Amino acid sequence: MPVFEEINGKTGIFALLGCPIEHTVSPQLHNSLSHMLGINAVYVPLKIERGRLGDAVRGLKACGFSGFNITIPYKEEVLEFVDETGEEVKAIGSANTIVNRNGRLYAYNTDGEGFARAFETFTGTGFKGRTAAIIGAGGTARALAVTLSYRGISKLYIINRTYQRALEIADLVNLKRPGTAVASNLSDLAPNKDGDIFTGGCDIIINATSLGMYPVIDKSPVEDSSFFKAGQIVCDIIYNPAKTKFLKQAEERGCRIMNGMGMLFYQGILAYEKWMDIKIPDDIINSLSTEFLKYLDK
Ligand code: NAP
Repeated sequence: MPVFEEINGKTGIFALLGCPIEHTVSPQLHNSLSHMLGINAVYVPLKIERGRLGDAVRGLKACGFSGFNITIPYKEEVLEFVDETGEEVKAIGSANTIVNRNGRLYAYNTDGEGFARAFETFTGTGFKGRTAAIIGAGGTARALAVTLSYRGISKLYIINRTYQRALEIADLVNLKRPGTAVASNLSDLAPNKDGDIFTGGCDIIINATSLGMYPVIDKSPVEDSSFFKAGQIVCDIIYNPAKTKFLKQAEERGCRIMNGMGMLFYQGILAYEKWMDIKIPDDIINSLSTEFLKYLDK
């Protein structure tokens, strides 16, 4: 048997920190990228028990890890342990990507940008001058709201079961772009109601709640399909199942639909580019995207 020499004294080490971690597909994505690009690096998932995140981050820094991803439930808490956070991460209040540059840890959040890249790739268009509704006001909805507002969305509706959380995100957006965001309560939405945002004709509608995610796949945040109008672009950030009830409702009404697989893919691509300080060539992205999306769909 030949000597296994792929991992050696010069291998860059990257990790994913979270809990639970068993179902992650990030190692498959990042290790495939390193293989395709011929980069000597390895990416490993690390399950970190609650209360141990600080120890873990200090440990990775001491061991000279080149960077790492952070997932549930540590995206907010990790900001306590990094050295540098930019304006966007401060606004979002959470990070999913950390880069170790000469012993200093820099925090980034590639979720919103990953969604934007997926959206642009899928539709061939962006957000400038358009209207959007985000359903949900959790951590990921917040990242999407900040990204869309930075990218010139003209009007943004934040709709959530807990109104206060929607209001917090709307206030955050309006601080930078006064008058752009409006908060609504999910229970106040009714089809064909005068002034309803959906009948008012939002260009883009995004489900950023966890409703409809495996295993409870018969749920949708929108009860009545007549909220959707033909021609709207309707996105779900859930990727399991590939077609949520929310997306099925929208498709039946003649909307273009996009699931969360592209976002998952591109947030990883963007993290990798930050770690390696490279721009991944389009042909590599295209060929990996085809394989990875097939892999997720299995
Ligand atoms: P989170 O912070 O826990 O937020 C969950 C959101 O869902 C909140 O707005 C919550 O409303 C709402 N919600 C939950 N149960 C609900 C119900 N029964 N009725 C109405 N609203 C409900 O979660 P997150 O981290 O933002 O993640 C949200 C989803 O995005 C998850 O499904 C996650 O897997 C997915 N995600 C996908 C990607 C990707 O790359 N595609 C990346 C990150 C996250 P309240 O505020 O009222 O509780």
